[in-house]
This record gives sequence, C-alpha cells and structure tokens, in this order.
Amino acid sequence: MLKAQSLDISYDQKKILDNFEINVEKGEIVSIIGPNGSGKSTALKAMSRLIPVQKEKVFLDGRDLQSLGTKSISQMMSVLFQSNEPPSDITVEELVKYGRIPHKKWYERTSDEDLSIVEWAIEKTGLTPLKDRLVASLSGGEAQRAWIAMSLAQRPKILMLDEPTTYLDIAHQLQLLELVHTVNRELGMTVVMVLHDLNQASIYSDKICVISKGIVVKYGTPEEVMTQEMIRNVYGVECEIDSHFQHGKPRINLLGISKVSAQ
Ligand code: ADP
Ligand code: MG
Repeated sequence: MLKAQSLDISYDQKKILDNFEINVEKGEIVSIIGPNGSGKSTALKAMSRLIPVQKEKVFLDGRDLQSLGTKSISQMMSVLFQSNEPPSDITVEELVKYGRIPHKKWYERTSDEDLSIVEWAIEKTGLTPLKDRLVASLSGGEAQRAWIAMSLAQRPKILMLDEPTTYLDIAHQLQLLELVHTVNRELGMTVVMVLHDLNQASIYSDKICVISKGIVVKYGTPEEVMTQEMIRNVYGVECEIDSHFQHGKPRINLLGISKVSAQ
C-alpha cells in the first residue's frame, strides 16, 4: 500500500533520513516511534510528498509517488500534522466538509452522501455539540478532534497522523486511538501514525517502525520490536517488559534513565 525504499532526505547537506525503508501493507496500523528529532515527521512528509523526494523511492498502491497528481494523492491519502492553522471564521462543520473536496469536481455541489459522511465524522469524533462553533474558538484538544474529523471525512485509503494524541487528555487519547482502530477494522483504512507513548504504540499497532537518528533500527510487530535492548539503545531508558499484557501485546514499564548512555 505504501512503500519507501532507500529514501534519503537531507536539509542543508545534513542527512535527516538515511536509507529509510518501510513497507506498509493494506489494512495495517503502523506506528512510527523514536526520540525527538529522529526524523519521524520528515518521514511522513516525504511519504506524502510534502517535501520533495526522488523518483522511484516512494510507492503508493504500487505507483511512484512522483508520477501521481496532487488530486489523486489527496483522494487516497489524508495527512494530519501537529500544528494546523484553520482558515479564519470557519465552523467545525465547514472544516469537516473540506474533507470532501478531493472527491468532487469544482462545479459539483455537496451531495447527500457527502453530508452523511460529514455527519458521521463529526459524530465519531464526539463533536456533534460543537459543530456550529468556530474552529478558532475551540480548545487545543477539540480543534485536534475537528482536524481528525476532516481527515476521516476525506475517507482516505491511508490515514497518516503525526502525534495525533499530543493535545488530548488521557480519555480523549484513548478515544482517538479506539476510533483509529475502528476505522481501520470497519473501513479497512490503512493507518500510519507517529506516537510517543510506547504502550499505546504497542497496543494499537500491527507493526512498529523505530527510527533513531534518521535510521530505521527496527521494523516489525510490537512483540518483535519492544525489547529492553531497543528501548535502552534508542531512548537511553531502562524498562521491564510484560510480554503478554493485553491481547498478547507487550506492556512496557519504564524504570528510569539508563546508566549505559543511549547509542
Ligand atoms: P521528529 O519528528 O522525529 O521529532 P523531524 O523529522 O521533525 O523529527 O526532524 C528531524 C531532524 O530534521 C531534526 O534535527 C530537525 O531539526 C531537522 N529538520 C526538520 N525540518 C527541517 C527543516 N525544514 N530544515 C532544516 N532542518 C530540519
Ligand atoms: Mg515530529
């Protein structure tokens, strides 16, 4: 579904992603984890063509990302980054309706189907009571949910989220991850997201990609990836791992900063 091979990205001669490889299968939830500044957002940007990539490095549904038009990309993929500035004076419902634009020709009006998808996205994100509010007047967490609703209304084949839980309290974090899980299972939406919480990544992902200093150090199932050695080497943190905590997914108990420094 989404594949990157030997992808290199540099800013001002500095290599940010070095030989980055990922192969996301259709219907999977893949989380990208790694320390601050390791290249996670850069990887999402490169895979959604928000920064230029060379030919034949990124493939979406088997087609070279470079050969696809912007509209075909936005029909297939929705990407949500950490800071989003809404156009001024727009309501939640109007923002969510923007999600339908890639599926329409410029002269087409909003159809009943569009409206029911918009309503579904608003309801799923718990925003029904706020749908007529201006996005600019929402709290950080509410605004985050409004952007997620817009992404869902786009009904992408692949949903990419950069730290989607950042502004959310713990209940809303879990609701969001449950929602991601639901759209993945019910609509078959493939998901690639950057997460910080190792336990959330473990519970909600089919595969985890660990990036450290621009290099993929591990890619596999949570069971394969979440090891004491990986967490010590990548984060410099000691932990215990309970390997069959929830649905057989490993649970990580962080113990403290490692005396052996991170590599
Ligand atoms: P992460 O999302 O893992 O925290 P990023 O992908 O945002 O990391 O950044 C990786 C590295 O690339 C960091 O060192 C960051 O400073 C650098 N970087 C990111 N964007 C730019 C840019 N536009 N120009 C120069 N350096 C950048
Ligand atoms: Mg980032």
